Amino acid sequence: MYNAKAYSAASAKSLLAPTTIARRDPTKNDVQIGILFCGICHSDLHHVRDEFAALMPTIYPIVPGHEIVGRVTKVGSSVTKFKPGDLAAVGCMVDSDGTCPECQDGLEQFCPNMTLTFNSPDKHLGGVTYGGYSDSIVVDERFVLRVPSNLDLAGTAPLLCAGITTYSPMRRRGVSEGKKVGVVGLGGLGHMGVKFAHAFGAHVIVFTTSPGKKEDALRLGADEVVVSRNTDEMRKHTGTFDFILDTVSADHDINAFIQLLRRDGNITLVGAPTKPLSVAAFGLLFGRHSLSGSLIGGIRETQEMLDFCGAHNITADVEVIPIQKVNEAYERLLRSDVKYRFSIDMASLKSE
Ligand SMILES: [Zn+2]
Ligand SMILES: [Zn+2]
Repeated sequence: MYNAKAYSAASAKSLLAPTTIARRDPTKNDVQIGILFCGICHSDLHHVRDEFAALMPTIYPIVPGHEIVGRVTKVGSSVTKFKPGDLAAVGCMVDSDGTCPECQDGLEQFCPNMTLTFNSPDKHLGGVTYGGYSDSIVVDERFVLRVPSNLDLAGTAPLLCAGITTYSPMRRRGVSEGKKVGVVGLGGLGHMGVKFAHAFGAHVIVFTTSPGKKEDALRLGADEVVVSRNTDEMRKHTGTFDFILDTVSADHDINAFIQLLRRDGNITLVGAPTKPLSVAAFGLLFGRHSLSGSLIGGIRETQEMLDFCGAHNITADVEVIPIQKVNEAYERLLRSDVKYRFSIDMASLKSE
């Protein structure tokens, strides 16, 4: 074991504060990574404040962070994909059983024995896993991703959660040239959805409640922007969309978007409103519309996404912060006061 610097929260009411954590020495299959940047995902904040208690209660102290980019510092004797000095990335998962039907299909995110990057039982050291708000992490090679060398690293970190979350359902639903695609909400997830849909060649329409976001949506790759509160504007698009990605985690009327789908069109949820959504059955029956959910992506697809980003020079739009500003960043996140993701520069941890 060795000591790593980190930021942790001691309870649901505590701020994140500097600490020292134990990391395992790399086993033969492990990659040790010096973390350079870690994105701030909204779910970090939910976990720190124990707001997912019903589904997965937080075990304290918690070190959040699952949008990790860094450089390999050491590898185990059986590691073949990485060597010291290589760029490397880690997302929401650090282990799975590798044998169940989900793992066999490359969908480790649905493995019943999957280990999350933080707040999951740690099979090596006991206790729970600690995430990326740290200067170092040790991860099984199977869960370490290669990072294209041309990408800006601060903007690459959010690809590991926000990126794959939006890339995966679009790929699965065949978003491509000639398709009309909607993205509901323009935050951390939405802005990535726009970039991917545009890169896939689709005609992209952003739905937003704030008319002020129009210019930015167009800059990010949208072809049109619709203010979803304007019913006349919405009605013009009835029955025309092949696919809509709904990234909104606040309560909202999903029926208004379902009626915009063409025959066999699909709307996929990637945001997670806490209250159940109300869905009118007729909106689905007419036109055979479907409503789905999607959760990050498997390791194979996450690598495919990173390679796609390398080929198309896609990264997240980030505001880089020192880790000392992380508590302030959480407050700003609650006000959607960030364009469009915070990325923590882990060099700032050295001074702790
Ligand atoms: Zn996340
Ligand atoms: Zn499995």
